Amino acid sequence: MTDVLILGGGPAGTVLARRLTALGHVVTLVTCARRRAIEGLSLRAVEGLRRAGCLQAVTVAGRPAARRVEWNGQHTALNGEHLVDRGHLDDALLRDAADGGAILCHGTAAAIERGTEGWRVVDTTGVTLGSGRFLVEARGRRAPNAPARESGPRTLAIGRVYQGSARRAGSAAFSFADGWAWLAALPDGRRVVQLFIDGAAIPARADLTAWHAAMVASLPQATGWIADCTPIGDAEVSDATAIRRSPGLEVDRLRIGDAAFAVDPLSGHGVFAAVAWAFAAAAAIDTLATDPAALPVVGRFVDDRCAELFAHAAEAGNQFYRAEERWVDRPFWRHRAAWPPAPLPSADRGIHSRAVVVNDRIEERRVLVTPALPRGVLAIAGIELSPLLESVAIEPSLGGDLADRCGRQLGQPAGHVAVALAWLATNGFLPRDLPGAKSRPGQSRQR
Ligand SMILES: Cc1cc2nc3c(=O)[nH]c(=O)nc-3n(C[C@H](O)[C@H](O)[C@H](O)COP(=O)(O)OP(=O)(O)OC[C@H]3O[C@@H](n4cnc5c(N)ncnc54)[C@H](O)[C@@H]3O)c2cc1C
Repeated sequence: MTDVLILGGGPAGTVLARRLTALGHVVTLVTCARRRAIEGLSLRAVEGLRRAGCLQAVTVAGRPAARRVEWNGQHTALNGEHLVDRGHLDDALLRDAADGGAILCHGTAAAIERGTEGWRVVDTTGVTLGSGRFLVEARGRRAPNAPARESGPRTLAIGRVYQGSARRAGSAAFSFADGWAWLAALPDGRRVVQLFIDGAAIPARADLTAWHAAMVASLPQATGWIADCTPIGDAEVSDATAIRRSPGLEVDRLRIGDAAFAVDPLSGHGVFAAVAWAFAAAAAIDTLATDPAALPVVGRFVDDRCAELFAHAAEAGNQFYRAEERWVDRPFWRHRAAWPPAPLPSADRGIHSRAVVVNDRIEERRVLVTPALPRGVLAIAGIELSPLLESVAIEPSLGGDLADRCGRQLGQPAGHVAVALAWLATNGFLPRDLPGAKSRPGQSRQR
């Protein structure tokens, strides 16, 4: 029996495996082959993979390709995206996880059993695929359902891959009356046309491939994209509804990635959110492994992080839906513009208690909250802000070098304290002209 059993080797499961093995846990990762897909990773998603040490995956992601957008009748060139064949990316992620020390097992998880020691997963023939004291559900949208907490309008993605001649990689997105389309061109000549439409827009038992072909023929941008190309296989449908489920945290189990919440692909945040979630989950699992009594604090952290990542992606998607004003009366656009992501509870500006990650562990700490930083800031330049503000209050006279005095009181270097004081002054928590609160040369900021 290993320490942690992870089901699902997508970005969430593999990054978590790498993080946990780096923290000294013995990890089993059980996964099966995924559906074929071509996706565009945001620059932040690839940065997250790099930070997790998944360098083979970063190599597969390659350089970002140019992206064009035609929306609300306007043409723009946005930040590039890394176009990836998800089969290749996920194979590289699995190699990264194995190189980090995770034990890989290829198989399809069919049933999970909870015993006195921990969890065991078996395939359809009853053969044990792996076991672990802590269970992580990371099987993406194919994970057994957990209750939904919020859900956007039902959205389907109907995609088809084509083969053309080799060309420069690039992608494009455009809106149309009943949805939007994502187009991709890979250097090996493969092209993708993926149409995102309302769940009710396709008649039951429709021939998807014929439906997709008719739609492509009616959309000049899509027709032009695949001119002189031949289809590879039929059109395929996937559910692309934004949905947030319970992360299901218990002292020995947790859901992560799309299994916990799946974002609207229009946000472009899917893989980024899965990777960010994996970092947070590693801290949660590491904390519970040594301190099961921390479950309530870890639970608050996990719930907040889940809601925050989901709201962030939902807001990014909704901005695009609201920006398209030509078809506001069509059901696709009306429903999505009217689906407001649940606003995160706003906290008053000032010091609040929050569950935060400190050195890969989750602890309840007093942080400084601002409207721009609702999760709060624990420290600047390594100086915790709550004790610093208390130290300023103990000696309210602002004369002399405040940084030296606070530094002595807190046992911290005055240079770092000066940087933290300058940040407090810039953000309106102290007068701007505070002596000793100016950034000293060579001091950097950190959150
Ligand atoms: C149509 C569509 C287009 C998208 N496009 C983009 C995009 O362009 N950019 C982007 O950033 N995000 C995109 N996303 C979102 C992105 O795919 C997901 O957010 C991301 O892959 C989630 O990672 P994950 O690890 O949680 O789950 P997944 O990537 O789904 O990984 C789950 C893993 O579990 C395995 N698994 C499933 N069932 C079992 C089982 N029974 N036993 C063992 N293993 C199992 C699967 O094979 C897979 O390897 C898109 C989503 C959709 C639906």
